[in-house]
Amino acid sequence: MSQSLATVAYLGAAILFILSLGGLSNPETSRRGNLFGIIGMALAVLATVFGPRVSSSGIAWIVIALVIGGGVGLYAAKVVKMTQMPELVALMHSLVGLAACLVGFASYVDTSTPYQGAEKVIHEVEIYIGILIGAVTFSGSLIAFGKLNGKIGGKPLLLPARHWLNLAALLIVVWLGRVFIHADSVGGGMLPLLVMTAIALLFGVHMVMAIGGADMPVVVSMLNSYSGWAAAATGFMLSNDLLIVTGALVGSSGAILSYIMCQAMNRNFISVIAGGFGSGAPAKKSGDAAAAEPQGEAMPITAAETAELLRDAKNVVIVPGYGMAVAQAQHTVNEITRTLRDKGVNVRFAIHPVAGRMPGHMNVLLAEAKVPYDIVMEMDEINEDFPDTDVAMVIGANDIVNPAAQDDPASPIAGMPVLEVWKARHSIVMKRSMASGYAGVDNPLFYKDNNRMLFGDAKKMLDEVLGALKA
Ligand code: NDP
Repeated sequence: MSQSLATVAYLGAAILFILSLGGLSNPETSRRGNLFGIIGMALAVLATVFGPRVSSSGIAWIVIALVIGGGVGLYAAKVVKMTQMPELVALMHSLVGLAACLVGFASYVDTSTPYQGAEKVIHEVEIYIGILIGAVTFSGSLIAFGKLNGKIGGKPLLLPARHWLNLAALLIVVWLGRVFIHADSVGGGMLPLLVMTAIALLFGVHMVMAIGGADMPVVVSMLNSYSGWAAAATGFMLSNDLLIVTGALVGSSGAILSYIMCQAMNRNFISVIAGGFGSGAPAKKSGDAAAAEPQGEAMPITAAETAELLRDAKNVVIVPGYGMAVAQAQHTVNEITRTLRDKGVNVRFAIHPVAGRMPGHMNVLLAEAKVPYDIVMEMDEINEDFPDTDVAMVIGANDIVNPAAQDDPASPIAGMPVLEVWKARHSIVMKRSMASGYAGVDNPLFYKDNNRMLFGDAKKMLDEVLGALKA
């Protein structure tokens, strides 16, 4: 393939990626968006493999790598559960960071192109920054992976003088960069490059360890953005325009998502990055019955009583959370919704921006279960309607319906906007125990007079409610 044909293919792929991002911004066009992304990526891979920069002997290596990588990817996509998706995404971000580091080191030791003068400086700056971003993304994403799958606790690690440590690390990295660029041989520049990589790896660990459980959504989207910038840096190192454009698209859309997440959590972006929010209580594992301190009496309800309340209601709002994903209860939720709507009940869904464990988690599940889009409302669209709601049914959600965010200034989630389900005539919380949610914060909602607890696995309980509704 000639250079000009490869450039045209890259241009086409870049346009398809932009269309893909546009499509993904709306559930109704997201399938088409995905398709554009797949075609764009296929075009990009073909244009690269058969492009002018790959020799015919190199193609064999690329095909071997594609078969191994594609095989691992296919296997992971098949076996990963929907609840493990956020961890998988974090792991993938870490791979982008690792790739940027490896490409950086490879570009540095590859002396086949003799760069001179300003060109040499620019090339080395690209390598240095590329490895820096890649290393922070790599180690930060691995820690995020550990925090999302519960292997690392949600309590922020707050080292004494951590801001000074970060500042010292930054100054050393700048100084090492100067030494690196002034080195007159690959051997001379390798040491500062390796030391900087080690500092960047430690910084990535420190940055994510210092962030509290409740602020993890911002970290997930921020690492998404970093992985984009790492890819763009790789593009500069390899002089690959498509990688630069694609990296910049991912980097900037991730940055916008981080901003949206910060707004949703009522947080200041810089404060989240500096860490320490969500430090009030350690995150307790779901299912730990002893996790939450009792603050009164929580009143239980049965599935049959729940069905009765739902049947008598005019307006019902369903609030799904992480527990619905764990229980895979979305299909039963859709069945219940259909049954109630057939009986003339106005059923709507209230989606909190950080419900679940990844942006858009609940929307994906509800779309999978074919819940009509027009009854799925964002928090801002529906929060004012709770006083006119007969039954607010909370399915496996906890932090996003915690009134402590509004009432308790000392709470680690203070200030975070929440769904005000307690303003409904009745609220029913469906979960297995009194355990706290991801942020590890007790929930006073459970003890309110108009609240009832439907204890048990969400799928099992909803099946019983559906059975009672149909009886
Ligand atoms: P929470 O983690 O606050 O609560 C989920 C609840 O589901 C738990 O209290 C648990 O209680 C219950 N649960 C678990 N399994 C089941 C089951 N099988 N059946 C019924 N209930 C179950 O989830 P929310 O969605 O309310 O809030 C999301 C939290 O995750 C926020 O703190 C957010 O900051 C954080 N987060 C969000 C991310 C995002 O991008 N959306 C990313 C990272 C973190 P029990 O054990 O008693 O059943």
